[in-house]
Amino acid sequence: MAHREYPTDHEAKQTILDVGRRMYQKNFVAANDGNITCKVDDDIIWATPTGVSKGFMTEDMLVKMYLDGRVIRQGDLDPSSEIKMHLRIYQENPDIRGVTHAHPPICTSFAIAGISLDKAIYPEALVNLGTVPCVHYETPGSPALPDSVAPYCKDYNALLLANHGAVSWGKSLIEAFYRLESMEHYAMVLMYTGNVIGKANVLSCDQVQELLDIRTRMGIHAGGVPPCAPRPSNVQDVLAGHSPLSADASPEVKTYQPAGSSAAPANGSTGGLSSADIERIRQAVIDRLRGT
Ligand SMILES: [Zn+2]
Repeated sequence: MAHREYPTDHEAKQTILDVGRRMYQKNFVAANDGNITCKVDDDIIWATPTGVSKGFMTEDMLVKMYLDGRVIRQGDLDPSSEIKMHLRIYQENPDIRGVTHAHPPICTSFAIAGISLDKAIYPEALVNLGTVPCVHYETPGSPALPDSVAPYCKDYNALLLANHGAVSWGKSLIEAFYRLESMEHYAMVLMYTGNVIGKANVLSCDQVQELLDIRTRMGIHAGGVPPCAPRPSNVQDVLAGHSPLSADASPEVKTYQPAGSSAAPANGSTGGLSSADIERIRQAVIDRLRGT
């Protein structure tokens, strides 16, 4: 292994408290939900205890333990039963230095629906986070839950737990938390595009490949490969007056192809739209403004 510099006990505990506050403030956890761990040596982590809000923890509540589950130091509170999942993740992949588990509402909704986060729709989610499988349901805190996540610890950066929540990891605890944030954001965008707007231009295979190359250059070798579109559908500017507004318009956004040029159309050009199209769009705008 190249570098073996771990955070100090103090740094690890402070980061856990900080991540706990952010998780709570961002509504990723309710009541005493969620758990956070940070690795400080090859076989030692600091962990959050059971039965406290992760938004209001103090250093003396945290538990220091070996990766085999033996407790080294603790205050009045025991480690969370879900820490078993964290221990297993560290055992499966020694490069992992931090793990977060929470129940962010949109991720949890996808986990309840049994839908993985795997659409190639924007670069950030693809590079730093990658695709997020949804693993089958096991009772929280049970020994079967660690078994369910184990096969994915080397090839992915985060998982949905069916009918339960989300878990993420990274080379540092803060990277693990950023991935938790990214997956909730990704899930929100998937919900808006899939269930509110009802349309998403999936990145083409060439566009996905470029992002995967960037990911590799950044030293990220996990995250899976999402399905891609054979041809790009997002390479033309979409100008005002070129979107389908009336109910009978094509579901595809009309785009303008400048004659013999790849440049954007000049101010207000109507491009390839017929006068009937223009009249229908104008009428739809007028109807909307009148609220009819
Ligand atoms: Zn949980």
